[in-house]
Amino acid sequence: MRRGMKREVRRITALLLSLILILSLTGCSQGGTETAGETQAAQTEAQTDAATEEATQGAADGQHFTAGTYTAEAEGIRSTVKVEVTFSDTEITDIQIVEHGETRNIADAALGQIPQEILDTQSLAVDVVSSATFTSRAVINAVTDACEQAGGNMDLLKEAVAETPQDEEVTADVVVVGMGLAGVTASMSALDEGATVVAVEKAGAAGGSSKYSGGFITGVGTAQQQAVGYDLDVDGYMEYFESCTNQSVKTDETDHEAVRAMIERSASDIQFLEDHGVGIAGPDGFGGDFLVWHYPATRTSAFDGEAGGADHIVAGMDWLESQDGFSIYYNSPAVEILTDEAGNITGVLCEREDGSTLTVNAKAVVLSCGGWAASQEMMARFCPDFPSEWVIPYTTAAMTDTGDGITMAEALGADVYEDGWWMDLAIGVDVGGYSTYFPDTLNGLINYANYFVVDGEGTRILNVNALYGPRSIAFADAMERTGEIFSIFTAEGFENGIQFIEDNDRVDNVNVYKADTLEELAEITGMDAENLVAQVERYNEMCANGVDEDLGQTTLIPIGDGPYYAVSIKTITMGTIGGLKTNDDNQVLSTEGTPIEGLYAAGELINGKYFNQVYVSGDAQLLCTDSGIIAGAGAAAYALGE
Ligand SMILES: Cc1cc2nc3c(=O)[nH]c(=O)nc-3n(C[C@H](O)[C@H](O)[C@H](O)COP(=O)(O)OP(=O)(O)OC[C@H]3O[C@@H](n4cnc5c(N)ncnc54)[C@H](O)[C@@H]3O)c2cc1C
Repeated sequence: MRRGMKREVRRITALLLSLILILSLTGCSQGGTETAGETQAAQTEAQTDAATEEATQGAADGQHFTAGTYTAEAEGIRSTVKVEVTFSDTEITDIQIVEHGETRNIADAALGQIPQEILDTQSLAVDVVSSATFTSRAVINAVTDACEQAGGNMDLLKEAVAETPQDEEVTADVVVVGMGLAGVTASMSALDEGATVVAVEKAGAAGGSSKYSGGFITGVGTAQQQAVGYDLDVDGYMEYFESCTNQSVKTDETDHEAVRAMIERSASDIQFLEDHGVGIAGPDGFGGDFLVWHYPATRTSAFDGEAGGADHIVAGMDWLESQDGFSIYYNSPAVEILTDEAGNITGVLCEREDGSTLTVNAKAVVLSCGGWAASQEMMARFCPDFPSEWVIPYTTAAMTDTGDGITMAEALGADVYEDGWWMDLAIGVDVGGYSTYFPDTLNGLINYANYFVVDGEGTRILNVNALYGPRSIAFADAMERTGEIFSIFTAEGFENGIQFIEDNDRVDNVNVYKADTLEELAEITGMDAENLVAQVERYNEMCANGVDEDLGQTTLIPIGDGPYYAVSIKTITMGTIGGLKTNDDNQVLSTEGTPIEGLYAAGELINGKYFNQVYVSGDAQLLCTDSGIIAGAGAAAYALGE
């Protein structure tokens, strides 16, 4: 390739990489030792050089196109992704994403990174971005289509570009493991204390479950509340918290004093985010007048679009990447906390998919690897009440949240909350093993339009207006007793859902059932007919009176005349509750109750202290912020010998 063009490719690469969410071409290309703060840009540039050489080689080996610009499209997770690809006689010279409706921020890494990698390597055999796999595949599929249209040598294009895995070793004061909101705030806080920070992230992008989150953060006494004259004190919030957590039915392991202390710090925690480039707006009350929720300032309201949590991550990563003392390694799962012969922590070891290792030498470790909702084994250990076959299809948590922090800390003698629970998000329908939030329209409709929910025998089990926690308890109980949960409805109040079911031929008598009478419905679903009829009569009576004396449900839409529909529904998790035990400084505690020197933890990984079975909305993102700030500062002070 001509020298000028090569320079241009490098310039565009650098520009794009600064625009997209993540600087994360798989691992890092250079071996040897570096210190924190040396950017990955130099490595990326070297990688780009090598890739361009290989691309040139590819052309020499027989790549050819009919030069021109071609458009193509492929399905992503939420939309059709349309690309415009330009070819010279021998190369792909430009890829533009011209149209898409993928979730902003979450898809950005794939939409920026995949085209650049294809251009750099002139190959379609590029890795998907692990946190945006559907969007990644859509881009690859659309570009593949364009290459076919341009008459490219597809065998050559699909050949993997050989990379030699390189072991690496880097040094910092603090290593942060996992870059959701907890890892982001821990890194900020450690940097504030003067420490250098290396962050390692298992996925190809930062954000974990945090980036799927609504991004609501609880705050009491915040500047935002003062600005609108909303006056709530900590006691007032704690009353609400207690009323939520009291709905748990298992032994209360939460530390109410720790929750109170977190709420007392919540205003300064939110200010911390703002001081570090993460703009916060609010307050909002989920439509009510309990105005404790704060949301990204990038939004015009709390419900402006999807996944507000991603905006916190994007802003936080922007701030971190502008700091000299910070560097981050993607696609680098930590597998072990390293210690010397005396048992002192010396860093972490990461093992990458390509077989290479990354050793981070650091005196202090912050574990912020999230929960374990995506681990079959961990769910079986800590949440045995959750049906095992639902674990993976029915979580909206990051697929990389597999409880690694627990495994690594336990190897050093850490204590855990053995009796865990899950954060229930919503109810869904079996649509074939997708794991992303409401991938199917029916899922969305069911979540918001079901009012009469029964167990496998036809007995009503659920106040659909209840909080996440009580809902998950009712689900677990019904599953254990009867093995099924159905949402039953008729046209009344559910016209759109029925239209969707009929238009899409969704009645399959496996997941979606339809019958002209309740007796028939009971027969095909296996419910007790007499019981179902009686339950419907009772429910309709209460609907007519406007009061649900049995379960306290406030949205009461009666079951009308047939045809009757029943949908077999599942509970969708958004995370887990339990994890590592910690002290007030967020040091991880050993099974003897003593702090493990140099080991700190934050976020969902330590939330057993704050939630029992009932997750209080907004408190999880607050916990990430609050515990990240404390853990990061503690780790920095320890590493710097203060
Ligand atoms: C759909 C959804 C909506 C939600 N809405 C809200 C809300 O509005 N308000 C609220 O308070 N809470 C909400 N929650 C819950 C809350 O967002 C999460 O509990 C919280 O964001 C978890 O943050 P975290 O930083 O602890 O973990 P995560 O954000 O999950 O980050 C953990 C990171 O660690 C990485 N990792 C894991 N293992 C390793 C390893 N071995 N090495 C390196 N990296 C590793 C993961 O890849 C991930 O990036 C929601 C959750 C979901 C899923």
